Amino acid sequence: MFICPSCEKDTLSWKAKYLMGFWFTSRCSNCDAKLTAMPIPLALFQVLYVWNVGWFSGIYWFNRDPMNFVYLTIIWIILDMLNVKYVPLSIMKKNASK
Ligand SMILES: [Zn+2]
Repeated sequence: MFICPSCEKDTLSWKAKYLMGFWFTSRCSNCDAKLTAMPIPLALFQVLYVWNVGWFSGIYWFNRDPMNFVYLTIIWIILDMLNVKYVPLSIMKKNASK
């Protein structure tokens, strides 16, 4: 579980945090704040995802080694884990329902 930056309670699921890593927003079940991942670190991660796909498809184009797609997938999973763990959250709106 992840801590809501608004009420500092452990309310966010792994799935909610993961989706916020892909520009989705989420709502805290305790304080109802609308939350999102911080755009600047998130944008850096997007660059890494694009680089990862571009790099290994590029190498594949040269040597036709299908292992490149295995590396691509492994790095994608590592990026996902780092994304979920390290991209900080920010509050878009406190008490979104009000
Ligand atoms: Zn909250």
